[in-house]
Amino acid sequence: MSEVAAKAPHEVSRRRTFAIISHPDAGKTTLTEKLLLYGGAVQLAGSVTARKNQRATTSDWMELEKQRGISVSSTVLQFEYKDCVVNLLDTPGHKDFSEDTYRVLTAVDAAVMVIDAGKGIESQTLKLFEVCRRRGVPIFTFMNKLDRPARPPLELLDELERVLGIAACPMNWPLGDGVDFKGVFDRESNQVHLFERTVGGKFRAPVNVKGIEDDSVRDALPPLVYQRVCDELDLLEGGGSPFDFDQVRKGQLSPVFYGSAMNNFGVQMMLDGFLKIAPPPAPRMSGDQFIEPASPNFSGFVFKIQANMNPKHRDRVAFIRIVSGCFQRDMSATNTRTGTRMRLGNSQRLFAQERETVNEAWAGDVVGLVGNYDLQIGDTLSEEAGIKFDEMPTFPPECFAYLHNENTSKFKRFREGLDQLLKEGVAQPFELPDAAVRVPLLGAVGPLQFDVLKYRLESEYNAEVRLEFAPWSLVRWIKEKNPEDAPKPVRGQVGPSRPNLVASYDTTLAQDVHGNWVALFGDKVSLGYFESKN
Ligand code: GDP
Repeated sequence: MSEVAAKAPHEVSRRRTFAIISHPDAGKTTLTEKLLLYGGAVQLAGSVTARKNQRATTSDWMELEKQRGISVSSTVLQFEYKDCVVNLLDTPGHKDFSEDTYRVLTAVDAAVMVIDAGKGIESQTLKLFEVCRRRGVPIFTFMNKLDRPARPPLELLDELERVLGIAACPMNWPLGDGVDFKGVFDRESNQVHLFERTVGGKFRAPVNVKGIEDDSVRDALPPLVYQRVCDELDLLEGGGSPFDFDQVRKGQLSPVFYGSAMNNFGVQMMLDGFLKIAPPPAPRMSGDQFIEPASPNFSGFVFKIQANMNPKHRDRVAFIRIVSGCFQRDMSATNTRTGTRMRLGNSQRLFAQERETVNEAWAGDVVGLVGNYDLQIGDTLSEEAGIKFDEMPTFPPECFAYLHNENTSKFKRFREGLDQLLKEGVAQPFELPDAAVRVPLLGAVGPLQFDVLKYRLESEYNAEVRLEFAPWSLVRWIKEKNPEDAPKPVRGQVGPSRPNLVASYDTTLAQDVHGNWVALFGDKVSLGYFESKN
């Protein structure tokens, strides 16, 4: 047996790759920082907040910087904890939604959803949750900020089930909230973890109790709180969702942990529970074949590309999620899309501001390839021929804009920058065959993507650009069974020019980057009309 084949099962089984999803301000950054403490990355833990504070001081482009700040410096944080190798992938933290976030979620095997217990489920939580659910990713819940007045814990559970439509099983139970927050009761081990308000959250060993009836628990809580907790636990025993390992793994049941990230309370319990229950890297499909993570041949896919991470070096990093085998520096692999074989030389792990060369990595890990590899988002790299992962979803854009180059003498830079940023997937290009003037038409899921594009073209490529918003908000791909039937545009004519396509005046035809036909609509009414007529 080769060395890789011998080591692979162990290396794969100890890996956990996940992302934290949350609505802004629920506590994602704080939780990330505390998790890092457990990985022994203490000196780096502070840098997460430091970075956030830096970001918060940039005024003009705050949202943008915030988004860039996060994705620039920490795409993946890796640490070892209790013989597990934990890969925590960062999802961009802006309030507007973008394709970036979706793509990162293709590279994880589980997600931790942070909820502000005072607020419950917020808009962004819901959207990100939907993305995870669609992929069948197991979702863990951390109910945060119990040290502040929180909504009743049963109500929060009920909301998870009602709004998200997922069964929820509390692994621990809060003993009060706000000023009355005294700790949590671990339902599995019958231990009470008492909370003490100290700066930074001093550790106190959990107390073994016989159950919630134990005198030490009764003594620790104000009588009313104690009574409430007993009633709640009774209700849970009677009607709550029982823990079911398989259901969690299928993404149908979310284990819920209550705590306070800022006080580092309940974080370790969550991390321990998570590592025990969350799945190691799963096989992924290539066509109709499962590629097993422990198989000896290396394979992986590109889920993110970012240029100019280091403005001084103008470099470009392609992030690969390893699906199978062992990545070794300087190995060769084939890019399935182009058929070219490449040497994977400059491989790095990016940890906060620091970079470290990766010599070896396994399924579940993420490596950044630095340099001008001909890689695009969604590309498969593999040692074996014929493997192709189809992990990257495409999203129908919901806003469109023309991008004008405002300075003809800088056209080359404009073009170079635009090509690069489109490769990174910052926006999706469309072509209007009927248009008399060829100004690039771009589509995006959220308008922030356009701001990012403009800002980066100006700051990284020194181009001068202007965005002109286009009137469409919906797009549908037109599937032609027979290519002969594809719409034939007629120059100078607005709207669909195939005689047998009937559409309202605000509908137009365009082609996506692969040459497929799409119809662009101003609103749902036009779309409905189009669908009813064609
Ligand atoms: P993010 O936007 O989701 O990354 O949220 P942050 O981690 O930056 O947290 C937002 C705010 O909530 C910050 O002011 C944190 O200090 C605060 N915060 C986070 N966790 C807790 C907690 O457990 N209790 C309290 N009281 N505040 C918290």
